[in-house]
Amino acid sequence: ILDISHDLKNPMSSIQGYTELLMKKCMNEQECEEYFRIILNNSKRANRLLNELFELSQLDSPEFSLKLVETDICEYIRQICGELVPQLESEGFEYEFNIPEDSVLVLLDTDRFNQIIQNLVNNAIRYNPAGTLVTVSLAVQNHQVLIDFSDDGIGIPEHLASNIFKPFVRVDDSRNSKTGGSGLGLSIAKRIAQAHGGDLTLLPDKNKGSTFRITIPAI
Ligand code: ADP
Repeated sequence: ILDISHDLKNPMSSIQGYTELLMKKCMNEQECEEYFRIILNNSKRANRLLNELFELSQLDSPEFSLKLVETDICEYIRQICGELVPQLESEGFEYEFNIPEDSVLVLLDTDRFNQIIQNLVNNAIRYNPAGTLVTVSLAVQNHQVLIDFSDDGIGIPEHLASNIFKPFVRVDDSRNSKTGGSGLGLSIAKRIAQAHGGDLTLLPDKNKGSTFRITIPAI
């Protein structure tokens, strides 16, 4: 509750402050536009936090269930990777995909699973400089599908590695920073992976960057 109130306090105070200013003062068009932009950005920030909190509590609720469909994970990940290309290219990121041509069946809620991938790619882009190499690879070991999502960027400090999936944990904890994350994305992603009977982990011992591993049982 302390984390939530802290993270909501800043955008809400800013929205209130700038709205009051707009109501009080007669300003030129440029100033108005600037204040509306600040209000919009802070509303988006507060909204994102509330949506993610709602999502996290939904995943914890006993009524939560996945819409599982038998899916060829290789085909599915290949398609997702294709869809990631424009985003990676427009941000100036390098990419490499190693997805086997085999057909491997898993039970998947594709919309939910997509959230995991989207969170990992958004993080890779948000926290690393342009030019970083993002690699997605898939392998099958002991009836488990392993999807490794790596980057050769700044990495996650070792002392935070074991806590990074806990809600509100961020490496850069300046909560007003431009990067603007709430620290809930990886917690949500991990819960979705676990709801599929798998997991999302951070692999240790990487010299450079980070590797997140999604596991999901093959059927
Ligand atoms: P958010 O991105 O909303 O802050 P996440 O739970 O998705 O929350 O990520 C937690 C933190 O982990 C981020 O704030 C960032 O500091 C760090 N992080 C996540 N992915 C990466 C990455 N690929 N490279 C470097 N740091 C990362």
